[in-house]
Amino acid sequence: MRVPFNKPGITALELGYIQQAAGRLKLSGNGHFTKRCHQLLECRLGVGKALLTHSGTAALEMAAILSGVGPGDEVIMPSFTFSSTANAFVLRGATPVFVDVRQDTLNLDPDEVGAAITPKTKAIVPVHYAGVACEMGRLMAIAEQAGLAVIEDAAQALCSSDHGRPLGTFGRASALSFHETKNIIAGEGGALLITDPEWAARAEIVWEKGTNRAAFSRGEVDKYTWVDIGSSFLPSEITAAFLWGQLERMDEISAERLRCWHAYHAAFAPLEQVGLLRRPVIPAGSEHNGHIYFLIYPDAASCDAALAGLRAGGVDAVRHYVPLHSAPAGLRFGRTHGSLDFTTDLSARLVRLPLWVGIDETQMECVIDTVWQVTAPHERRPQVGG
Ligand SMILES: *Cc1c(COP(=O)(O)O)cnc(C)c1O
Repeated sequence: MRVPFNKPGITALELGYIQQAAGRLKLSGNGHFTKRCHQLLECRLGVGKALLTHSGTAALEMAAILSGVGPGDEVIMPSFTFSSTANAFVLRGATPVFVDVRQDTLNLDPDEVGAAITPKTKAIVPVHYAGVACEMGRLMAIAEQAGLAVIEDAAQALCSSDHGRPLGTFGRASALSFHETKNIIAGEGGALLITDPEWAARAEIVWEKGTNRAAFSRGEVDKYTWVDIGSSFLPSEITAAFLWGQLERMDEISAERLRCWHAYHAAFAPLEQVGLLRRPVIPAGSEHNGHIYFLIYPDAASCDAALAGLRAGGVDAVRHYVPLHSAPAGLRFGRTHGSLDFTTDLSARLVRLPLWVGIDETQMECVIDTVWQVTAPHERRPQVGG
């Protein structure tokens, strides 16, 4: 058996909505399905404005434009993240300042953030790794005291919350991703969530190629014209229709992923007890969406061996980020503050396991068994219910 790392969960619902979108004979963006998606995200999360984008990357680029950062400005973020988190700000000429993550959650360490603030700092970008919340209370307090904008990279965090408040609603703006590998998918897709009314008004313009088209279509201005910088950030109605089907099923999708996440978590508890690996830590008050299940091995060598063993056993386990501060573009465009030892160390010891909507019991058993075999070849796995 081969267990792939990911498999997009597509149902007749999404396909039916695509057909409906085609039937409406309006395929460009900001039509019927786009508006429905906006309303659902705004109501469900309680944010002033949601705008679909053609990717999470595009949403981050919009947020970077709205933040107004430019050459000489600094933006504090983790190094343990995807290139787009930093790239969006580099495109504006700003400098990413990489700080270390907490050892337990692999999320931004608020103490490191506080220490990295300089007169040039303009924004803080928390990344909710694996859909697990950063310490938003502390980060928001630090940002407020220093007068900085918070932009959440919530690419992995739709349907997660921190002390009851949905992730993506803390920052002045937040980016979601609907990439095929995320929980809620659209092939390629994303959304920008905006809580700041001034940013929201400008976001509409940036989204529509720098024009006031949205205000024009509401009858607020009598001419539609170029008023600011912007780009083509919106997805087509075909993408929005697919996404609408996914959003209608979002609770079901989260529950499915969590079912697999908890099965893994229970099965690996004995391995953690004997110190052969470490399981994810979910802080009190954090409700997550089961986006990623990862294991952390004691050292890089045991991690490499486990990865090779899993692949040989048919389990497509994968690593995650090469820390941005050590990547060629990170070295060229960014700088670090403080030690990034946890980031460097943990990224070399982390393995992600297959997890998707529709993974069946046999496939989950295969993953669990193979992890046990490669991690503890001489231990006997306790038999469930036996
Ligand atoms: C997926 C992801 C992105 C980029 O989203 P795309 O939709 O692929 O452009 C950015 N940041 C993080 C943390 C991500 O996981």
